[in-house]
Amino acid sequence: MRAQTLQDLDLNEDSVVLRVDFNVPLNEDGSVADDARIRAAIPTINHLRERRCRIVICSHMGRPKGKRILRLSLENAAATLADLLDSEIIFSHETVGSDVEQLARDLVPGGIMVVENLRFNPGEKSGDQDFAAALSKLGTVFINDAFGAMHRAHASISGLPALMERSAIGLLVQQELEALSVLTDAPKKPFVAILGGAKVSDKISVFDSLSRRCDAILVGGAMAYTFLKAQQQSVGTSMVEESKLLLAKRTLERCEEKNVRVLLPVDHVVAKELSADAETEVVESIDEDWMGLDIGPKTVALFAEELANAGTVFWNGPMGVFEMDAFAGGTRGVAEAIAATDAHSVIGGGDSAAAVAQMGVASRISHISTGGGASLAFVEGKTLPGIKAIVQYGGHA
Ligand code: AMP
Repeated sequence: MRAQTLQDLDLNEDSVVLRVDFNVPLNEDGSVADDARIRAAIPTINHLRERRCRIVICSHMGRPKGKRILRLSLENAAATLADLLDSEIIFSHETVGSDVEQLARDLVPGGIMVVENLRFNPGEKSGDQDFAAALSKLGTVFINDAFGAMHRAHASISGLPALMERSAIGLLVQQELEALSVLTDAPKKPFVAILGGAKVSDKISVFDSLSRRCDAILVGGAMAYTFLKAQQQSVGTSMVEESKLLLAKRTLERCEEKNVRVLLPVDHVVAKELSADAETEVVESIDEDWMGLDIGPKTVALFAEELANAGTVFWNGPMGVFEMDAFAGGTRGVAEAIAATDAHSVIGGGDSAAAVAQMGVASRISHISTGGGASLAFVEGKTLPGIKAIVQYGGHA
Protein backbone atom coordinates (compact mmCIF):
# COMPACT_ATOMS: atom_id res chain seq x y z
CA MET A 1 0.00 0.00 0.00
CA ARG A 2 1.12 3.53 -0.76
CA ALA A 3 1.93 5.92 2.08
CA GLN A 4 0.04 9.20 2.16
CA THR A 5 2.25 12.01 0.80
CA LEU A 6 2.55 15.68 1.62
CA GLN A 7 0.67 16.59 -1.57
CA ASP A 8 -2.26 14.40 -0.48
CA LEU A 9 -2.85 16.69 2.49
CA ASP A 10 -4.84 19.86 2.20
CA LEU A 11 -2.90 22.11 4.56
CA ASN A 12 -3.64 25.64 5.67
CA GLU A 13 -2.22 27.18 8.83
CA ASP A 14 -1.99 23.70 10.39
CA SER A 15 0.30 22.89 13.31
CA VAL A 16 2.80 20.42 11.95
CA VAL A 17 5.32 18.19 13.69
CA LEU A 18 8.03 17.60 11.10
CA ARG A 19 10.46 14.76 11.74
CA VAL A 20 13.69 15.31 9.81
CA ASP A 21 17.12 13.73 9.77
CA PHE A 22 19.51 16.44 10.91
CA ASN A 23 22.02 13.85 12.07
CA VAL A 24 24.83 15.69 10.29
CA PRO A 25 28.62 15.39 10.63
CA LEU A 26 30.01 18.01 13.02
CA ASN A 27 33.35 19.81 13.22
CA GLU A 28 35.47 19.69 16.40
CA ASP A 29 33.86 22.95 17.58
CA GLY A 30 30.38 21.49 17.12
CA SER A 31 29.53 23.47 13.98
CA VAL A 32 27.92 21.64 11.06
CA ALA A 33 30.58 20.08 8.78
CA ASP A 34 28.22 18.98 6.00
CA ASP A 35 24.76 20.49 5.66
CA ALA A 36 23.51 18.13 2.90
CA ARG A 37 20.86 16.53 5.13
CA ILE A 38 19.63 19.92 6.31
CA ARG A 39 19.35 21.14 2.72
CA ALA A 40 17.49 17.96 1.82
CA ALA A 41 14.66 18.90 4.22
CA ILE A 42 14.14 22.36 2.74
CA PRO A 43 11.64 21.48 -0.03
CA THR A 44 9.25 20.07 2.58
CA ILE A 45 9.80 23.02 4.92
CA ASN A 46 9.08 25.44 2.07
CA HIS A 47 5.96 23.50 1.08
CA LEU A 48 4.67 23.84 4.66
CA ARG A 49 5.58 27.52 4.89
CA GLU A 50 3.81 28.30 1.64
CA ARG A 51 0.69 26.89 3.33
CA ARG A 52 1.34 29.06 6.38
CA CYS A 53 1.78 26.07 8.68
CA ARG A 54 3.32 26.38 12.12
CA ILE A 55 6.27 23.99 12.01
CA VAL A 56 7.87 22.14 14.92
CA ILE A 57 10.96 20.35 13.67
CA CYS A 58 12.41 17.38 15.52
CA SER A 59 15.39 15.14 14.81
CA HIS A 60 17.97 12.89 16.41
CA MET A 61 21.70 13.60 16.40
CA GLY A 62 24.36 10.99 17.17
CA ARG A 63 24.07 8.47 19.97
CA PRO A 64 23.61 10.29 23.28
CA LYS A 65 22.05 7.14 24.79
CA GLY A 66 19.12 8.88 26.45
CA LYS A 67 21.24 11.58 28.12
CA ARG A 68 21.70 15.29 27.49
CA ILE A 69 25.11 15.64 25.83
CA LEU A 70 25.92 19.23 24.94
CA ARG A 71 28.07 18.32 21.92
CA LEU A 72 25.07 16.55 20.37
CA SER A 73 22.67 19.46 20.72
CA LEU A 74 20.65 20.37 17.63
CA GLU A 75 21.24 24.07 18.27
CA ASN A 76 23.98 24.35 15.61
CA ALA A 77 21.87 22.47 13.06
CA ALA A 78 19.01 24.86 13.80
CA ALA A 79 21.35 27.82 13.24
CA THR A 80 22.45 26.33 9.90
CA LEU A 81 18.81 25.92 8.90
CA ALA A 82 18.11 29.55 9.84
CA ASP A 83 21.03 30.62 7.62
CA LEU A 84 19.88 28.47 4.71
CA LEU A 85 16.30 29.76 4.95
CA ASP A 86 17.47 33.24 5.79
CA SER A 87 14.83 33.53 8.46
CA GLU A 88 14.51 33.44 12.21
CA ILE A 89 14.02 30.10 13.91
CA ILE A 90 13.18 29.42 17.53
CA PHE A 91 15.31 26.78 19.24
CA SER A 92 13.89 24.98 22.26
CA HIS A 93 16.36 23.37 24.68
CA GLU A 94 13.56 21.05 25.74
CA THR A 95 12.16 18.46 23.35
CA VAL A 96 8.74 17.97 24.93
CA GLY A 97 6.73 19.36 27.86
CA SER A 98 4.35 22.18 28.64
CA ASP A 99 6.85 24.99 27.88
CA VAL A 100 7.56 23.62 24.40
CA GLU A 101 3.84 23.09 23.81
CA GLN A 102 3.27 26.75 24.66
CA LEU A 103 6.07 27.84 22.29
CA ALA A 104 4.49 25.66 19.56
CA ARG A 105 1.08 27.30 20.13
CA ASP A 106 2.69 30.74 20.00
CA LEU A 107 4.28 30.18 16.57
CA VAL A 108 3.06 32.58 13.92
CA PRO A 109 1.79 31.12 10.62
CA GLY A 110 4.88 30.00 8.69
CA GLY A 111 6.95 30.13 11.91
CA ILE A 112 9.51 27.45 12.71
CA MET A 113 10.76 25.97 15.97
CA VAL A 114 13.47 23.30 16.22
CA VAL A 115 13.30 21.23 19.40
CA GLU A 116 16.28 19.59 21.10
CA ASN A 117 17.72 16.17 20.09
CA LEU A 118 15.02 13.49 20.41
CA ARG A 119 17.56 10.97 21.65
CA PHE A 120 18.33 12.98 24.79
CA ASN A 121 15.22 11.15 25.96
CA PRO A 122 15.57 7.36 26.36
CA GLY A 123 11.97 6.97 25.19
CA GLU A 124 12.87 7.86 21.60
CA LYS A 125 15.02 4.81 20.89
CA SER A 126 12.93 2.43 22.97
CA GLY A 127 9.82 3.47 21.03
CA ASP A 128 8.11 4.54 24.25
CA GLN A 129 4.42 5.36 23.85
CA ASP A 130 4.47 8.08 26.53
CA PHE A 131 7.30 9.90 24.75
CA ALA A 132 5.44 9.61 21.44
CA ALA A 133 2.32 10.99 23.19
CA ALA A 134 4.34 13.96 24.53
CA LEU A 135 5.63 14.69 21.01
CA SER A 136 2.13 14.43 19.57
CA LYS A 137 1.10 17.42 21.72
CA LEU A 138 3.32 19.67 19.60
CA GLY A 139 0.94 19.67 16.62
CA THR A 140 -1.96 18.01 14.86
CA VAL A 141 -0.38 16.94 11.58
CA PHE A 142 2.72 14.73 11.37
CA ILE A 143 5.12 14.79 8.44
CA ASN A 144 7.97 12.33 8.37
CA ASP A 145 10.81 13.44 6.11
CA ALA A 146 13.58 11.64 8.00
CA PHE A 147 14.49 9.04 5.41
CA GLY A 148 17.74 8.15 7.22
CA ALA A 149 15.74 7.02 10.27
CA MET A 150 12.81 5.32 8.52
CA HIS A 151 14.16 1.84 9.28
CA ARG A 152 14.06 2.45 13.05
CA ALA A 153 11.05 1.60 15.19
CA HIS A 154 11.62 4.69 17.35
CA ALA A 155 8.94 6.78 19.07
CA SER A 156 9.05 9.67 16.60
CA ILE A 157 9.12 7.32 13.61
CA SER A 158 6.73 4.48 14.26
CA GLY A 159 4.84 5.78 17.31
CA LEU A 160 3.69 9.24 16.24
CA PRO A 161 1.39 8.53 13.26
CA ALA A 162 -1.12 6.64 15.41
CA LEU A 163 -1.43 9.65 17.71
CA MET A 164 -1.80 12.48 15.20
CA GLU A 165 -4.90 13.60 13.29
CA ARG A 166 -3.18 13.22 9.94
CA SER A 167 0.23 11.94 8.84
CA ALA A 168 2.19 11.79 5.62
CA ILE A 169 5.68 11.30 4.26
CA GLY A 170 7.62 14.40 3.24
CA LEU A 171 9.02 15.27 -0.18
CA LEU A 172 12.49 13.89 0.55
CA VAL A 173 11.15 10.52 1.68
CA GLN A 174 8.88 10.41 -1.35
CA GLN A 175 11.80 11.12 -3.68
CA GLU A 176 13.96 8.48 -1.94
CA LEU A 177 11.23 5.84 -2.25
CA GLU A 178 10.70 6.60 -5.94
CA ALA A 179 14.43 6.34 -6.75
CA LEU A 180 15.00 3.23 -4.65
CA SER A 181 11.88 1.49 -6.01
CA VAL A 182 13.56 1.36 -9.41
CA LEU A 183 16.00 -1.10 -7.83
CA THR A 184 13.33 -3.36 -6.36
CA ASP A 185 10.59 -3.13 -8.99
CA ALA A 186 11.98 -2.91 -12.47
CA PRO A 187 15.75 -2.49 -12.62
CA LYS A 188 17.02 -2.05 -16.15
CA LYS A 189 19.38 -4.92 -16.92
CA PRO A 190 22.20 -5.61 -16.44
CA PHE A 191 21.79 -4.71 -12.78
CA VAL A 192 25.18 -4.40 -11.09
CA ALA A 193 25.59 -3.96 -7.33
CA ILE A 194 28.81 -2.93 -5.61
CA LEU A 195 29.18 -3.74 -1.95
CA GLY A 196 32.06 -2.70 0.25
CA GLY A 197 32.74 -1.55 3.78
CA ALA A 198 33.92 -3.32 6.84
CA LYS A 199 31.57 -6.04 7.90
CA VAL A 200 30.17 -9.02 6.04
CA SER A 201 27.65 -9.58 8.82
CA ASP A 202 26.06 -6.14 8.19
CA LYS A 203 25.58 -6.78 4.49
CA ILE A 204 25.02 -10.48 4.02
CA SER A 205 21.23 -10.24 3.95
CA VAL A 206 21.29 -7.40 1.42
CA PHE A 207 23.77 -9.49 -0.58
CA ASP A 208 21.27 -12.35 -0.60
CA SER A 209 18.34 -10.24 -1.64
CA LEU A 210 20.39 -8.43 -4.33
CA SER A 211 21.44 -11.80 -5.72
CA ARG A 212 17.78 -12.41 -6.58
CA ARG A 213 17.71 -9.34 -8.83
CA CYS A 214 21.28 -8.55 -9.86
CA ASP A 215 23.29 -9.87 -12.75
CA ALA A 216 26.61 -9.13 -11.05
CA ILE A 217 27.78 -8.21 -7.55
CA LEU A 218 31.19 -6.53 -7.21
CA VAL A 219 32.75 -6.86 -3.77
CA GLY A 220 35.44 -4.62 -2.29
CA GLY A 221 36.41 -3.23 1.12
CA ALA A 222 37.30 -5.39 4.09
CA MET A 223 34.31 -7.65 3.44
CA ALA A 224 36.05 -8.96 0.31
CA TYR A 225 38.67 -10.66 2.48
CA THR A 226 36.14 -12.87 4.24
CA PHE A 227 34.91 -13.99 0.80
CA LEU A 228 38.47 -14.50 -0.51
CA LYS A 229 39.43 -16.52 2.56
CA ALA A 230 36.28 -18.59 2.15
CA GLN A 231 37.69 -19.47 -1.28
CA GLN A 232 40.98 -20.56 0.34
CA GLN A 233 42.88 -17.55 -1.00
CA SER A 234 45.69 -16.05 1.07
CA VAL A 235 44.63 -12.81 2.74
CA GLY A 236 47.57 -12.21 5.13
CA THR A 237 46.50 -10.11 8.11
CA SER A 238 43.54 -8.49 6.31
CA MET A 239 40.35 -7.96 8.29
CA VAL A 240 38.37 -11.22 8.17
CA GLU A 241 35.21 -12.20 10.00
CA GLU A 242 36.19 -15.77 10.87
CA SER A 243 32.71 -16.60 12.16
CA LYS A 244 31.21 -15.68 8.78
CA LEU A 245 33.48 -17.80 6.56
CA LEU A 246 30.93 -20.56 6.10
CA LEU A 247 28.15 -18.07 5.44
CA ALA A 248 30.34 -16.31 2.85
CA LYS A 249 31.09 -19.65 1.15
CA ARG A 250 27.38 -20.55 1.01
CA THR A 251 26.51 -17.10 -0.34
CA LEU A 252 29.02 -17.52 -3.16
CA GLU A 253 27.62 -20.98 -3.93
CA ARG A 254 24.04 -19.69 -4.00
CA CYS A 255 25.05 -16.90 -6.40
CA GLU A 256 26.70 -19.45 -8.69
CA GLU A 257 23.52 -21.55 -8.71
CA LYS A 258 21.52 -18.47 -9.69
CA ASN A 259 24.03 -17.45 -12.36
CA VAL A 260 24.82 -14.22 -10.54
CA ARG A 261 28.43 -13.31 -11.14
CA VAL A 262 30.31 -12.27 -8.00
CA LEU A 263 33.52 -10.38 -8.74
CA LEU A 264 36.07 -10.31 -5.94
CA PRO A 265 39.23 -8.16 -6.02
CA VAL A 266 42.04 -9.48 -8.22
CA ASP A 267 44.66 -7.13 -6.79
CA HIS A 268 45.13 -5.13 -3.62
CA VAL A 269 46.89 -2.17 -2.09
CA VAL A 270 48.58 -3.71 0.94
CA ALA A 271 50.52 -2.43 3.94
CA LYS A 272 51.97 -4.01 7.05
CA GLU A 273 50.02 -1.68 9.30
CA LEU A 274 46.95 0.47 9.08
CA SER A 275 48.56 3.89 9.01
CA ALA A 276 48.41 6.83 6.62
CA ASP A 277 52.16 6.85 6.00
CA ALA A 278 52.72 3.09 5.94
CA GLU A 279 54.79 1.63 3.11
CA THR A 280 52.38 0.25 0.51
CA GLU A 281 52.54 -2.22 -2.36
CA VAL A 282 50.14 -3.36 -5.04
CA VAL A 283 49.94 -7.16 -5.15
CA GLU A 284 47.78 -9.89 -6.66
CA SER A 285 48.38 -12.34 -3.87
CA ILE A 286 48.71 -11.19 -0.27
CA ASP A 287 51.73 -12.43 1.70
CA GLU A 288 51.63 -13.42 5.34
CA ASP A 289 52.43 -10.15 7.14
CA TRP A 290 50.50 -7.85 4.83
CA MET A 291 46.94 -6.61 4.96
CA GLY A 292 44.69 -5.59 2.10
CA LEU A 293 43.50 -2.01 2.62
CA ASP A 294 42.15 -1.10 -0.81
CA ILE A 295 41.32 -2.73 -4.12
CA GLY A 296 44.14 -2.42 -6.67
CA PRO A 297 44.12 -0.78 -10.13
CA LYS A 298 43.36 -4.02 -12.00
CA THR A 299 40.28 -4.52 -9.85
CA VAL A 300 39.19 -0.93 -10.44
CA ALA A 301 39.51 -1.55 -14.20
CA LEU A 302 37.61 -4.85 -13.93
CA PHE A 303 34.80 -3.21 -11.94
CA ALA A 304 34.73 -0.20 -14.29
CA GLU A 305 34.25 -2.54 -17.26
CA GLU A 306 31.22 -4.14 -15.57
CA LEU A 307 29.80 -0.75 -14.67
CA ALA A 308 30.23 0.67 -18.16
CA ASN A 309 27.65 -1.78 -19.56
CA ALA A 310 25.22 -1.66 -16.65
CA GLY A 311 21.59 -0.57 -16.95
CA THR A 312 21.21 -0.10 -13.19
CA VAL A 313 23.86 0.36 -10.49
CA PHE A 314 23.58 0.27 -6.71
CA TRP A 315 26.60 1.04 -4.53
CA ASN A 316 27.03 0.79 -0.78
CA GLY A 317 30.29 0.80 1.16
CA PRO A 318 33.83 2.00 0.41
CA MET A 319 36.33 -0.17 -1.48
CA GLY A 320 39.09 0.42 1.06
CA VAL A 321 40.14 2.53 4.04
CA PHE A 322 39.22 5.59 2.01
CA GLU A 323 39.64 7.91 5.01
CA MET A 324 43.40 7.66 4.31
CA ASP A 325 44.58 8.95 0.95
CA ALA A 326 46.90 5.99 0.41
CA PHE A 327 43.90 3.64 0.44
CA ALA A 328 41.27 5.83 -1.22
CA GLY A 329 42.11 5.13 -4.87
CA GLY A 330 39.72 2.18 -5.23
CA THR A 331 36.75 4.06 -3.81
CA ARG A 332 37.54 7.05 -6.01
CA GLY A 333 37.94 4.85 -9.07
CA VAL A 334 34.56 3.22 -8.49
CA ALA A 335 32.91 6.61 -7.91
CA GLU A 336 34.31 7.81 -11.25
CA ALA A 337 33.25 4.65 -13.06
CA ILE A 338 29.69 5.01 -11.77
CA ALA A 339 29.59 8.66 -12.78
CA ALA A 340 30.73 7.67 -16.27
CA THR A 341 27.88 5.18 -16.93
CA ASP A 342 24.51 6.01 -18.43
CA ALA A 343 22.94 3.58 -15.98
CA HIS A 344 20.33 4.53 -13.36
CA SER A 345 22.84 4.86 -10.52
CA VAL A 346 21.94 4.84 -6.85
CA ILE A 347 24.37 5.44 -4.01
CA GLY A 348 23.25 4.00 -0.70
CA GLY A 349 24.34 6.81 1.61
CA GLY A 350 27.19 7.05 4.11
CA ASP A 351 30.80 6.68 3.01
CA SER A 352 29.98 6.05 -0.64
CA ALA A 353 27.94 9.25 -0.79
CA ALA A 354 30.86 11.12 0.80
CA ALA A 355 33.19 9.64 -1.83
CA VAL A 356 31.10 10.83 -4.80
CA ALA A 357 30.79 14.27 -3.21
CA GLN A 358 34.55 14.40 -2.65
CA MET A 359 35.16 13.41 -6.28
CA GLY A 360 32.87 16.19 -7.47
CA VAL A 361 30.79 13.70 -9.50
CA ALA A 362 27.58 13.84 -7.45
CA SER A 363 25.68 15.59 -10.25
CA ARG A 364 26.33 12.61 -12.54
CA ILE A 365 24.66 10.13 -10.18
CA SER A 366 20.91 9.48 -10.57
CA HIS A 367 20.20 9.31 -6.85
CA ILE A 368 22.32 9.69 -3.72
CA SER A 369 20.37 8.42 -0.76
CA THR A 370 20.49 10.36 2.50
CA GLY A 371 20.09 7.12 4.45
CA GLY A 372 22.71 4.35 4.44
CA GLY A 373 20.93 1.87 6.73
CA ALA A 374 17.47 2.83 5.49
CA SER A 375 18.38 2.41 1.83
CA LEU A 376 19.98 -0.97 2.54
CA ALA A 377 16.85 -2.08 4.43
CA PHE A 378 14.64 -0.90 1.56
CA VAL A 379 16.75 -2.61 -1.11
CA GLU A 380 16.68 -5.75 1.02
CA GLY A 381 12.89 -5.70 0.67
CA LYS A 382 12.18 -4.95 4.32
CA THR A 383 9.14 -2.90 5.30
CA LEU A 384 10.41 0.33 6.84
CA PRO A 385 8.66 0.97 10.20
CA GLY A 386 8.28 4.69 9.41
CA ILE A 387 6.47 3.98 6.16
CA LYS A 388 4.39 1.19 7.67
CA ALA A 389 3.08 3.49 10.43
CA ILE A 390 2.04 6.15 7.92
CA VAL A 391 0.36 3.61 5.63
CA GLN A 392 -1.50 2.28 8.68
CA TYR A 393 -2.48 5.58 10.29
CA GLY A 394 -1.96 8.21 7.59
CA GLY A 395 -5.64 8.95 7.14
CA HIS A 396 -6.52 8.50 10.80
CA ALA A 397 -8.91 11.29 11.88
P1 AMP B 1 30.82 0.13 6.68
O1 AMP B 1 30.38 1.01 7.81
O2 AMP B 1 30.55 -1.32 6.88
O3 AMP B 1 30.34 0.64 5.33
O4 AMP B 1 32.39 0.22 6.65
C1 AMP B 1 33.09 1.39 6.39
C2 AMP B 1 34.49 1.29 6.92
O5 AMP B 1 35.15 0.17 6.32
C3 AMP B 1 35.35 2.48 6.59
O6 AMP B 1 35.63 3.18 7.77
C4 AMP B 1 36.61 1.88 5.98
O7 AMP B 1 37.80 2.45 6.49
C5 AMP B 1 36.52 0.43 6.37
N1 AMP B 1 37.24 -0.44 5.42
C6 AMP B 1 37.05 -0.52 4.10
N2 AMP B 1 37.94 -1.39 3.55
C7 AMP B 1 38.71 -1.83 4.55
C8 AMP B 1 39.80 -2.75 4.62
N3 AMP B 1 40.27 -3.36 3.53
N4 AMP B 1 40.36 -3.00 5.84
C9 AMP B 1 39.89 -2.38 6.94
N5 AMP B 1 38.85 -1.51 6.95
C10 AMP B 1 38.27 -1.24 5.76
